[in-house]
Amino acid sequence: MGSKLIDEQQSDIFDLRFAIVGAGIGGLASALALAKKGFKDIHVYENASNLGFMGAGIQLAPNLVRILSRLDCWDLVEAEATDVLETSIRDGATDTELAHVRMPDIRKKYGYPHCTGHRASLVGGLYQGCRKMPAIKFHFGCAVIAITSFQPKVEFVVKTREGVEQRIIADTLLAADGVKSITRVALLNQINHASEVEDTGQAAYRVLLPREKMQDDPEMMALLDSNQVTRWIGEKRHWIAYPIQSRTMYNMSSIQPDTNFASEPSMTYTTKGSKDTMLSVFADFCPLIQRMLDLVPDGQVCEWKLRVQKPLPTWVHGSVALVGDACHPTLPHLNQGAAQAVEDAAVLAEVLAKCPGSDLASLNKSLRVYELIRKERASTLVRWAAESGRILHLGQGKAKEERDRRFANANAGGHHLPDKWASSDVQEYIYSHDCMQEAADQFCRLYQSLS
Ligand SMILES: Cc1cc2nc3c(=O)[nH]c(=O)nc-3n(C[C@H](O)[C@H](O)[C@H](O)COP(=O)(O)OP(=O)(O)OC[C@H]3O[C@@H](n4cnc5c(N)ncnc54)[C@H](O)[C@@H]3O)c2cc1C
Repeated sequence: MGSKLIDEQQSDIFDLRFAIVGAGIGGLASALALAKKGFKDIHVYENASNLGFMGAGIQLAPNLVRILSRLDCWDLVEAEATDVLETSIRDGATDTELAHVRMPDIRKKYGYPHCTGHRASLVGGLYQGCRKMPAIKFHFGCAVIAITSFQPKVEFVVKTREGVEQRIIADTLLAADGVKSITRVALLNQINHASEVEDTGQAAYRVLLPREKMQDDPEMMALLDSNQVTRWIGEKRHWIAYPIQSRTMYNMSSIQPDTNFASEPSMTYTTKGSKDTMLSVFADFCPLIQRMLDLVPDGQVCEWKLRVQKPLPTWVHGSVALVGDACHPTLPHLNQGAAQAVEDAAVLAEVLAKCPGSDLASLNKSLRVYELIRKERASTLVRWAAESGRILHLGQGKAKEERDRRFANANAGGHHLPDKWASSDVQEYIYSHDCMQEAADQFCRLYQSLS
């Protein structure tokens, strides 16, 4: 199929009604990417009454920054972001450095920096970008409670905070409703497949230390004023930490065995944690970690349950497609969850803008092209994140000795490191990939290959 034919046929595709479930990073990026392509009627339904709790940092990798730049929303995020130029991987108990990897040339190598930032800036940047696009309408306080039809149009029910239910019809629905996605369950039901949560047995604390509280401790201030991501690792546990918000905050997040949620697996995914429990989980970590955790005010400890999903047979049914954590939730060890949600969004906009017709069959084929382009890459990164976690969390024994030897032998370039996030070969695979270009280049071939 030549591109001329596509241009002739797609005249009314841009008038179609798009519904997006969820105003998280995947949903906001999807709305913005579609609007930037010229789609005119985009509705975002978000359960929460606003953009919600975002008191945590996030790593902004070059593959994410590339897309944010093209969506014209990177400047706002970059204003408070810190460039990552090196990483230190340390033994949690002794603070002894296992490996130090410098990465001064990320910006030069990939055309975009690797940064750390505040989640609120990323979400705020995407939201501000959306607010500039008249095509996007937000419906906060509206939970999608059921998908009643997948074709010929998508029909679903939303419920407002006041309890009012409304039936909505859309041409396409993009489900960015996160790891607990009800759309995923409904979509898999259509093909008689159960949605299978995979319990990772892991949970995460996230804490933010304000600069004022750190300033009497030179060791802490050196970390806060650095361009370094630091990881302290131990058996089944670690902390990762970096400066955010123009170095006014030090962001720390941990991984530890899940004990608090284990008894109530279907309950909430986040909970207020106890400072005493957090301190006891990391009681054998070094004095520096103890001093940092001591700064956390009681009552401000938040713990996240980490869940993933067994690989899905499909991400698409009719003109409904899953996006982000709804289809590829991941452990955070590669720091790619949000980046992959944004890659999904960017590819969706590319393939839908190229869709040669506005009928269900054409939309479905274009969404399947999205899945073809995205699924293998996202699944690979989910797998690598899990592998990295297993190696980082080894206990005493031969395997750990071998891991530490590999860390010790890491040269400045940091190839084949046990911590995949810091490994330059893994970075090359993740950061050099231009998913939008791939979608643009591959669309016609992949579309034609589908029946
Ligand atoms: C500890 C930790 C650290 C991480 N660090 C990083 C990192 O450094 N870099 C990175 O790239 N990623 C990181 N991630 C992953 C990243 O946060 C997620 O992958 C990403 O936020 C997923 O975005 P999403 O939009 O798909 O889902 P979500 O952010 O979960 O958004 C889903 C949205 O949908 C809404 N919603 C849900 N159900 C409904 C419904 N029925 N109706 C209406 N609205 C609904 C929710 O309220 C929510 O706003 C980390 C994750 C964790 C747990």
